[in-house]
Amino acid sequence: MSSPDSAATSAGASTPPGPKEPLTPVTAALVEFLAEARVPTEHGSFTMKLFREKATGLEHVAMVMGEVQGSALVRVHSECMTGDVFGSLRCDCGPQLQFALSEIGKRGSGVVVYLRQEGRGIGLANKLRAYQLQDQGLDTVEANQHLGFAADLRKFDAAAEILATLGVKSVKLMTNNPRKVQTLKDQGVQVEERVPVRSDVQPENERYLGTKARKLGHHIDWLG
Ligand SMILES: [Zn+2]
Repeated sequence: MSSPDSAATSAGASTPPGPKEPLTPVTAALVEFLAEARVPTEHGSFTMKLFREKATGLEHVAMVMGEVQGSALVRVHSECMTGDVFGSLRCDCGPQLQFALSEIGKRGSGVVVYLRQEGRGIGLANKLRAYQLQDQGLDTVEANQHLGFAADLRKFDAAAEILATLGVKSVKLMTNNPRKVQTLKDQGVQVEERVPVRSDVQPENERYLGTKARKLGHHIDWLG
């Protein structure tokens, strides 16, 4: 199995040398806006705004409710077809997405940025292969590494630019993942608060959540 050449480099963020340069103004360099429409949901009415990432062609979505200019309640969610669409119990993505939409609905404003980077960036086919390996005893991190990928290939620069395009200046970020907080900060997003995302521990995802907490540094305080 050959490892993709991007695997080694894209996981670690490079730190720019010297004093911090002022943030570049919003130029929408990475993404272009394609279309939008009202999408009513059980959590209230959202505007779905579709963006295309120029470099990859990936079509990312921002589900926007209410006034989000300035400070906003935000979740940056990476696509997980198995969890988000089919309710897979192998992970907690579906409940996390629903939690975010529900919290935004209660507040009447906020944004879910939905990034099309399936399986922590390795794609659906490789995610299914990783699941096979997990059924043979590897944990989620080991399985990705076995396939030649870093533990987490997700990138959040497009999300930062989409938020800037929406006029979101600072975020109350719904996540358990401190790396996501740091990565968004590195991309120029002001994170004023981390809002923990509660999801149920099930027999099928207990080991997965444990690995996320232990190996990927997620704050999952309610795990035993
Ligand atoms: Zn998932």
